[in-house]
Amino acid sequence: MRLILLGPPGAGKGTQAKRLVDRHGIVQLSTGDMLRAAVAAETPVGLKAKDIMGRGDLVPDEIVIEIISQRIDEPDCARGFILDGFPRTVAQADALDHLLKEKGLALDVVVEIKVDEAILLSRIAQRASETPGAVREDDTAETLKRRLAVYREQTAPLIDYYGRRGLLRTVDGMQSIDEVTADIDEVLARMAA
Ligand code: AMP
Repeated sequence: MRLILLGPPGAGKGTQAKRLVDRHGIVQLSTGDMLRAAVAAETPVGLKAKDIMGRGDLVPDEIVIEIISQRIDEPDCARGFILDGFPRTVAQADALDHLLKEKGLALDVVVEIKVDEAILLSRIAQRASETPGAVREDDTAETLKRRLAVYREQTAPLIDYYGRRGLLRTVDGMQSIDEVTADIDEVLARMAA
């Protein structure tokens, strides 16, 4: 199974991806996690990405496309994968399409986790105030606003992009974590039926 989790920062993509990993034995490919690891290891990609990520902007398409292309070739991806945080632009989606075709693979479904942005902002602000120091560096109210604006401008067009291809399914991300998981499971069960 190969799927994309689509949704703004804070929608719970990472949490849901981890649950899918446990249930379906497929791997989670988070470009955010991979980039954070590159930043921590101070690799050339990490050095390039650090400030961009700190601002809440997107790292150049060619960098993330290359990272994903190489990662998909690894043996643990053979059973399938969950793309979490990729693609984030139409150019990335086109590149993904192209590279999957080249590898003889196809996407099964794109699950949009739909959330109310105003509620999301207050949730994250609350999380930051309750657990200072425990949150990610780019989870401050200011960068989060920027990341949401970037989502709206550059990533939200993918909802139509995949909708037109008949691949999009939407779940209500304002429910509890368990309810969102149940809805995603239902989407996947329907797909398999
Ligand atoms: P995330 O953990 O998915 O929220 O990603 C954290 C940050 O990493 C983002 O705000 C971007 O700066 C960068 N990033 C992650 N994935 C991508 C992507 N697919 N394209 C461009 N930048 C990305």
